[in-house]
Amino acid sequence: MEYDKKKVVILGGGYGGLMTAVTLQKRVHPSRVEIYLVNKNDYHYFTTKVHEAGAGTVNPNSIKMPIQELIDPKRVTFIQDEVTGLDIERKKVICKNQIITYDYVVVGIGGTPKTFNIPGLEEHAFFLFNWEGSNRLRKHIEEKFQEFSQKPTGKLNLVIGGTGFTGMEFIHELTKSIPLLCKEYKVVPNDVNIIVIEPNQQILQGFPESIVSDAVGSLRKMGIEYKVGMQVTKVERDKVFLQDGTEIQSDTFIWAGGVTGNPLLEGHGFELLDGRVKVDEYCEVPDVSDVYVIGDASVSFNEKGQPYPPTAQIAIQQGQYCAYNIAMKVYGQPAKPFHYIYRGTVMSLGKGNATGIVYDHHINGKFAALMKWVIEMRYCFMLGGLSLVRKHWKD
Ligand SMILES: Cc1cc2nc3c(=O)[nH]c(=O)nc-3n(C[C@H](O)[C@H](O)[C@H](O)COP(=O)(O)OP(=O)(O)OC[C@H]3O[C@@H](n4cnc5c(N)ncnc54)[C@H](O)[C@@H]3O)c2cc1C
Repeated sequence: MEYDKKKVVILGGGYGGLMTAVTLQKRVHPSRVEIYLVNKNDYHYFTTKVHEAGAGTVNPNSIKMPIQELIDPKRVTFIQDEVTGLDIERKKVICKNQIITYDYVVVGIGGTPKTFNIPGLEEHAFFLFNWEGSNRLRKHIEEKFQEFSQKPTGKLNLVIGGTGFTGMEFIHELTKSIPLLCKEYKVVPNDVNIIVIEPNQQILQGFPESIVSDAVGSLRKMGIEYKVGMQVTKVERDKVFLQDGTEIQSDTFIWAGGVTGNPLLEGHGFELLDGRVKVDEYCEVPDVSDVYVIGDASVSFNEKGQPYPPTAQIAIQQGQYCAYNIAMKVYGQPAKPFHYIYRGTVMSLGKGNATGIVYDHHINGKFAALMKWVIEMRYCFMLGGLSLVRKHWKD
């Protein structure tokens, strides 16, 4: 029997998009759908490990994988291109090099760093956000150590703005890499400063008390000081200005001030919250036909109407859900609404140490670090089975 084949176009090969593609290729018979995956790079990377690549504690190449090796190329056509717009009236995706028509589009292009319009931030700060950015940061830190070793005057200042999840993980990673860099470039460890600025009144604002307390304890143990309630007002190539008039000499400024939605999704009439597209309980844009938005580009809400924070955990579940939902549409079946299962949060505090809440239980230390690794391996298993787990076992 001949079926009307549907064309599913997935935008973004991150946690959400890739999970949609690999689930869809298993769930729907080839006679019923054509699957296309569009991503600007030819690789997928572990965003949850970019802080390690940025600090230089892991080889950056170990956190990225060719997309072609993760999908079934007989089922999914991979297109390396940059999405520049959407034409939802005509059901078209506009890319730099082509226009792609769709029956269903799944938008998983992630968010962008929040810059709060701070002058100079975009030009001079480094962002821990994607693979390219973390790689650039690692190279820059190495260059600064090299320069300093040749002209050791004053201090080598590494300044971090923002102590949310990403900032906190990065600070801890940096404390592991600095002794190695000092040894390699023959820099006296006491000449290197880590300066941490938090615009909120508390570090890790919004996180459970047990996680905050473990993280604060860990910073104290390492002798890292931080200023809270201090806004960054301007950034220059080698200076960071604070609201109280302080000027900090900065060799490297890393901004970890949070994530907002993707500007590509503005101007389509989608309802936005903090730049993220509000989606309904089917991960679809209300009143727009066949447009799903998932992961950091979207915002969905719990039963109390509160927005879920953007995490890989929710992006992965939404990706699996979209594949299921599209399968139901293709087979003419009613779909159940998306139900997010929150399993917990585990934050790395450097190699062999972490803190978190898993299924309502507070965990920390080596056990929490082991849990973090288990979570990463579980993701590898979901994505590429045992062979991918084996590949990343030691990283
Ligand atoms: C340092 C750090 C640590 C984190 N740790 C955790 C953690 O422990 N647990 C957790 O749950 N979450 C964690 N997160 C958050 C998590 O990484 C994100 O929520 C998650 O990556 C969102 O997935 P996504 O699929 O929406 O977007 P992404 O994973 O960002 O993927 C978006 C993809 O779209 C591509 N893309 C973007 N724009 C375009 C375009 N115009 N055209 C084509 N392709 C495009 C990108 O190249 C990328 O491949 C962490 C984040 C960071 C930065």
